Amino acid sequence: MEHSARRKMINLRHSFQRGHAASGSLPGGWRNLIFDLIADSFRRSRRLRVDFNSLTPKDLCPHDSVTEIRRVPRRIVRCRRCGVAFAADRDNLDRAIDRHQGDYFLANKDFTFEDGDVDIFSYLMPRILFFWALGYPRYRPARRRALDVGAGQGIMVKYLDFLGWDAWGVEISQWAVEQARARFGCDHMIQGTVQSAGLDTGSFDLVTLIHVLEHVDEPVPLLSEIYRILADGAYLYVEVPSSERDTSDYYIDDHFWFYSVDSLRYLLSSIGFREVNVSEGTFNPRLHNVPFIFAAAKKPE
Ligand SMILES: [Zn+2]
Repeated sequence: MEHSARRKMINLRHSFQRGHAASGSLPGGWRNLIFDLIADSFRRSRRLRVDFNSLTPKDLCPHDSVTEIRRVPRRIVRCRRCGVAFAADRDNLDRAIDRHQGDYFLANKDFTFEDGDVDIFSYLMPRILFFWALGYPRYRPARRRALDVGAGQGIMVKYLDFLGWDAWGVEISQWAVEQARARFGCDHMIQGTVQSAGLDTGSFDLVTLIHVLEHVDEPVPLLSEIYRILADGAYLYVEVPSSERDTSDYYIDDHFWFYSVDSLRYLLSSIGFREVNVSEGTFNPRLHNVPFIFAAAKKPE
C-alpha cells in the first residue's frame, strides 16, 4: 500500500480506536480489516479513468475545478479533472530567480557534500539507471543534439556531452551558469528560461527536465515550448518528486506542483506527447527512500 495512504489509515485507525474502544462492538482484527478496505477504496477512487492515448492539446487541463486538500503548511488544492495537486501561492519568475542564488544550490544536499562540492555520482546514478530503463541506449538519432532545462551547475549537460551528444543547458540562475562554465567547462549554457532562449523549432533530439516541473509557476507553457523545440520523433525525459507517496514534499517551500504517475502522464499526453512511459523509484544514494517519478515521452514523428 502507498506510504501516504498507509499513514492516513493509521491516523484514522488511531482516532477510531480512541473514540470507540470502550464500545467494544467489533474485535480489533475486524476493525483493522474494515479500515484497510475503506482506505484502499478511497485510494482507488482517486485514480484517473482516462484513455491517455486519446488526449490532445484541446484536453489541456485548466485546473479550474479544485478541491482543497490541506491548509498546513500552506494552501494546497487538487484538480478534480487531472488529479494534479498544487500550491495556491507560487513563485513568479522574478521570485524564482531571486531564490536561485549560490546559497540555494550549496544548501541542496541531494547531490552536494557538506563542503559544497558536487557529488556527481549521487546526481547521475538515478538518471543513468532510468535512462537505461526508459530506453535511451537504443535511441540514436543522427544529429544527437540535447538540451537540459533547469541545468543548474551543468552536471547533466556534462554527462550528455560525455555520451556524445551536442549538449546544451538552459538555466535561470546566473550563479549556476557561471559555475557550470568555470567548474565543468560547459560553454553551451544559456541563461534564462526555455521560453526566453529563442530556440529554433525542431532543433533538439532530446530534452531532459530534471526536478524542474515541481518548481515552476505554470507547467504547461514550459512543456509546450519544449514540445515545439523538439524534433519530430524526439524524446523528453522528466523527473519529479513522487508527492503522493511522500507527502513531506508539501513542506518544501519552493515545490509548487505535486504529481502522481497518473497526473504527470495526463499532462504529457495532453501536450501531445506519445509513448508516455512513467515509473517510480528511489535510487539516489543520498536520499534513501525518497521516491521520484521518472518519465520518457516522445513527440510523434
Ligand atoms: Zn487539472
